[in-house]
Amino acid sequence: MSRSEQLFDQAKLSIPGGVNSPVRAFNGVGGTPVFFQRAAGAYLFDEDDKAYVDYIGSWGPMILGHNHPSVINAVLQQIDRGLSFGAPTEIETRMAEKVCQLIPSIEQVRMVNSGTEATMSAIRLARGFTGRDKIVKFEGCYHGHADALLVKAGSGALTLGVPNSPGVPASVAEHTLTLPYNNSDAVRALFAEMGDQIACIIVEPVAGNMNCIPPQPGFLETLRELCDQHQSVLIFDEVMTGFRVALAGAQSIYNITPDLTTLGKIIGGGMPVGAFGGRREIMQQLAPAGPVYQAGTLSGNPVAMAAGLAMLEAISAEGFYDELSATTAQLLNGLKQRAAEAGIPFTTVQVGAMFGLFFTEQPAVTSFEQVMACDAERFKRFFHLMLEQGVYLAPSAFEAGFVSKAHGEKEIQLTLDAAEKAFAQL
Ligand code: PMP
Repeated sequence: MSRSEQLFDQAKLSIPGGVNSPVRAFNGVGGTPVFFQRAAGAYLFDEDDKAYVDYIGSWGPMILGHNHPSVINAVLQQIDRGLSFGAPTEIETRMAEKVCQLIPSIEQVRMVNSGTEATMSAIRLARGFTGRDKIVKFEGCYHGHADALLVKAGSGALTLGVPNSPGVPASVAEHTLTLPYNNSDAVRALFAEMGDQIACIIVEPVAGNMNCIPPQPGFLETLRELCDQHQSVLIFDEVMTGFRVALAGAQSIYNITPDLTTLGKIIGGGMPVGAFGGRREIMQQLAPAGPVYQAGTLSGNPVAMAAGLAMLEAISAEGFYDELSATTAQLLNGLKQRAAEAGIPFTTVQVGAMFGLFFTEQPAVTSFEQVMACDAERFKRFFHLMLEQGVYLAPSAFEAGFVSKAHGEKEIQLTLDAAEKAFAQL
């Protein structure tokens, strides 16, 4: 029995399902989740000290690789001064200024402790600002686990087959209108019918919780146009894509300005941080400036701010994203080539340093239905064959993958060699 198997059995006695977040439990691929004891650069080390090239990166934050010295040093320096004050600190303003500078649509920003808090608060703010209750989201998009957003949700909810969770009152869910991603006509039809009741649209500008699906040309433009016409708030959930697909997020790639943006993952450098921000006029509605209530005992925590700020400074370096995209492209081209050689129907998607892998004959995957039509069984086998060889992919066919700055020639080659063997056994 491996240490991970022992630890998982033990964990299940005191933690529901043995994990503190569902996808970690490997329900999507079967088998025992790997328990890790440490990480360095592009690698994770399990409890038996086996090394894995990591393509999860803590589900996104580790864009510099694990234990990057500038982030670690910033944290260590801050720790000496105290862990939490529950009172304002200068570093919070420095963080806010940095975020506003990097993402021009954000004129003001509020820090929270997770992506879930960011989206939940952004929705409340949009409702408070417009005086309307209805919200629009897209099937297969995941925006955290707040009640209103666990309707046809992606990520773990999709992996576990519970996109509509028990425990969400019907009276809450009825205000969430769900439409197919990348379907502009469906959004137009809904707004024609009830646009004046819609507080906001929340969307992943690149969907990363039903594998990885970029927006089709015109889709985000349509959302912007309809929100303008009907005075609804457009929220880009960039918890995953922010500082990942480009320094200024997906909004800079597709050139659409949302009213509000939610952030998480990278912004905390590996510490529990989320944020939401946008137009000053809307943000000014937040307490104590305005009447929409939102708060947090540990929000803007100085240690978390130190990690996040060091992270944002490091990724602002000239050429950072070009290099990361080139590494990601090298990985995906290599995988496609090896799959083709083995005669396995396979395609990939890349947006910056975020990618999707699809076992399918379809030349391009652009919708939720097409994701569901991919060969999930084959993905599971591929996942385990890669894991055995020391490559740690997301344990679900509905998650995106991430490359870090620490992934170099050696790690890509190791991954491609493993994939060649895996494809041959599929
Ligand atoms: N929004 C998106 C787009 C996400 O990908 C996630 C998490 N994967 C969340 C919100 C929720 O963030 P958290 O898990 O930090 O609550």
